[in-house]
Amino acid sequence: MSGGELAASIRAETAGLAAELTAAGRTPTLAVVTATADEASAWYVRSLSRTAAKVGIACDVTDLGPASPSRPESPDAAVESIRVELIALSENPLVHGIVLQTPLPGGARLAELAGLIDPAKDVDGANPTSLGRLMTGLPTFAPATAAAVLALLDRYEVALSGRRAVVVGRSAVVGKPVAQLLLARDATVTVCHSRTVDLAAVTSTAEVLVVAAGRAGLVGASFVAAGAVVVDVGTNAVAGGGLAGDVDPAVAEVAGALSPVPGGVGPVTTALLLRHVVEAATAVPVLPAAPRRACCGRRRSGRPSGRRRGAGRRRWRPRCPGRSAVRRPWPRWPRR
Ligand code: NAP
Repeated sequence: MSGGELAASIRAETAGLAAELTAAGRTPTLAVVTATADEASAWYVRSLSRTAAKVGIACDVTDLGPASPSRPESPDAAVESIRVELIALSENPLVHGIVLQTPLPGGARLAELAGLIDPAKDVDGANPTSLGRLMTGLPTFAPATAAAVLALLDRYEVALSGRRAVVVGRSAVVGKPVAQLLLARDATVTVCHSRTVDLAAVTSTAEVLVVAAGRAGLVGASFVAAGAVVVDVGTNAVAGGGLAGDVDPAVAEVAGALSPVPGGVGPVTTALLLRHVVEAATAVPVLPAAPRRACCGRRRSGRPSGRRRGAGRRRWRPRCPGRSAVRRPWPRWPRR
C-alpha cells in the first residue's frame, strides 16, 4: 500500500486551494516550533518546509533549540520561551496552523504545551481539546499521522466496519488517535503496548494491524495472520542512513497488504498536515470578530433589580453594570 500516489493527489488538491486563498490575499501559513537539536526532527521539518513551499503554503520555523541564540539557559526558561511563542502564534491572525515539533526539552510535557495552541490552528491535533473532540466525535483536526493511516486504508478500500483491528502503540500522537479513528469506523479495536503479554498472540488475531511502536522489525511474519492488512507507521533510523519500519519486510509474504517504510504513511502524513493548514486558513472569518468589550470594572451583580422578589416583570441588571440592561424571562423564582 504505497502512500506516494495518495499523497500526490492530496498535495495537488491542497495546492489548488492554497492558490485560491493566496489570490484572495490570505496566504496559508504554517508555523513550526522546534525546541531541540534532534536530527530526525530537523530532517522532518526541512522536508515539511520544502513540501509546503511546493504547494504554496508559507512555513515559518521558529527554532528555540540549544543552537538558537535566543534560547534561554535554564530548562525552565526554555519551556517558558516555548509557552510564550505558542501563545503569540495562537494570537497572530496571519498564522493559520501551528505545529509544536517533538522531541521537547527535558521537563516539558507535550500535552501541557500543546494545550496553548488555539484548537482552530491545531493542525496536528496535539491540543488535549482537539483529542477530546476527536474522542467525542466532534469536528476537529485529527493528528495527521493517525488521519494518514485511515486515508491509506480508505485509498485501498479496506473495509473496517466489524473487522478486528489491533494497534501496537498507545501514544497520544499515533496509537490512541488511530485506535479512536478505527473505533469511529466501527472496527473492533485492541490496543497493545510495551506491557502487553504475548504480543504475537494478540497481533495475529488482527484483520487490520497498525504498528506504531518505534522498534525496528518488532513485528515479524509470525505476528501476522495470513491475509491481514498491515500498516507500518514506524520510522527508525538505520545505521548507515535510511529508514526502517516496525514491521519486518518478510511480513509481505504473509499479509494481504503491507504499507512500506519509507513511502507509506509518511508522505500521506505531510500532505494531510498541509491540507489541514489550508482548511484552517479557509475557516478564518472574512470579517474579524467584533472586539469584546472590556468590563468597566464595576461590581458585578447576578441578582434581579427593581421591586421585591417575584413581583411583576423583572429587569435584570447586566452581568457587567457597564453594559446596557438585558431583559430575561428566567430564571423563574418559585411563588411563595
Ligand atoms: P512513542 O511515543 O515512543 O510510543 C511508542 C508506543 O509503542 C508506546 O505506546 C509503547 O508502549 C509502544 N511500544 C514500545 N515498544 C513496544 C514493544 N516492544 N511492544 C509493544 N509496544 C511497544 O512513539 P510514537 O510517537 O507513537 O511513534 C511511533 C513510531 O511512529 C515511531 O517510529 C515514530 O518515528 C513513528 N512516527 C511516524 C510518523 C509518520 O508520519 N510516518 C509520524 C509520527 C510517528 P508504552 O506506552 O508501554 O511505552
